[in-house]
Amino acid sequence: MPDWITLIKPLPRAGENVIILRRDSRLAFDIILAAKFDGIKVPATASVMNYADTTSKNLLEFRIHVYGATTKTLYESACASCQRREGKRRGIPGLIDFKTGSDMIEPNDGKIRVEFVFCCYPKDHRVGDMEYL
Ligand SMILES: [Zn+2]
Repeated sequence: MPDWITLIKPLPRAGENVIILRRDSRLAFDIILAAKFDGIKVPATASVMNYADTTSKNLLEFRIHVYGATTKTLYESACASCQRREGKRRGIPGLIDFKTGSDMIEPNDGKIRVEFVFCCYPKDHRVGDMEYL
């Protein structure tokens, strides 16, 4: 990973760089932004409750790209059955749900804490992937 982003949790087991995920396990990253940005803007997924007033803010658009570890396929949405489950909630039924009160996250102590969950497992897509990259 580049040095401006740090994985806070979950931590991989010693000597490994694969983390084991469950649908309810949150990932957290700390991001250090270049000084010209006031914060980041995340997609308004199901758990994002508020749309911030971003007028006159210089925000970095934050996106996560997920690839299958085996097939290198780019996944942009949850599988059909996870979409049915997640679709009852508000927001965009996507692969990733950001756990934040607002779609704008501002730095605290110079760092931006981003937390999210994966709503769908790699094997769900049934194309041979068991891991995400
Ligand atoms: Zn799924």
